[in-house]
Amino acid sequence: MIYNMEDSHNLTWQSTTVGKQDRRQRNGHESFVLWFTGLSGAGKSTIANLLEQVLFAQGIHTYLLDGDNVRMGLNSDLGFSATERRENIRRVAEVAKLFVDAGVVTLTAFISPYQSDREMARSLFTDTEFVEVYVDCPIEVCATRDPKGLYLRAQSGQIKEFTGVAAPYETPQQPDIVLHTNLQTPLECVQQILGCLVSWGLLSKDNSLANSLEDTCVTREGQR
Ligand code: ADP
Repeated sequence: MIYNMEDSHNLTWQSTTVGKQDRRQRNGHESFVLWFTGLSGAGKSTIANLLEQVLFAQGIHTYLLDGDNVRMGLNSDLGFSATERRENIRRVAEVAKLFVDAGVVTLTAFISPYQSDREMARSLFTDTEFVEVYVDCPIEVCATRDPKGLYLRAQSGQIKEFTGVAAPYETPQQPDIVLHTNLQTPLECVQQILGCLVSWGLLSKDNSLANSLEDTCVTREGQR
């Protein structure tokens, strides 16, 4: 990897005439990122997909950035060392920032195992624009689900640096939302997220699925 940091010192940020607020107003909703983090097999993709389906059906502009898809394209030059994982997350966070700037409700489903990388991602956004969703599930359950057969391959040594087996997963310190996918169904998880988003003013109350759960959400720092 060759990065010439010197060149970036000569750059100046150009403000665009049409801005984020204009695009939000046109879309009729806020834009923000839902940052899903958790072990492989915890349910990030499953829940993010279901949530996107619900939001999309309500006319909300959405986009889901999924770990494997991004690694097959934009980040195909990156492996799984701590440095490359950091660069993976940095690029994803920057792309998510562009989507949020474009007025889109952006969902990201990446293991993102390091606290410092998640903090770096959060630092690119305002307080209200970044919602960290910790998809919590015991590793034994994830390994039993093993939807892609990765735990089996990691345990037999075929995959090195597999999170939870031979590489760490740092539990989020202050996630905005915690889901327990060993106890909740995917739909219950989606309802919990929707309830929080309505309660924090990020989604409108029109969302009938969310109404019943709205009160279950704790107040969040920087809440609108
Ligand atoms: P990740 O994106 O975190 O790697 P996936 O969503 O790809 O995880 O896989 C999770 C697997 O667990 C899927 O096969 C899904 O059907 C299953 N699963 C079982 N219960 C749940 C639940 N409550 N929430 C999410 N996924 C669940």
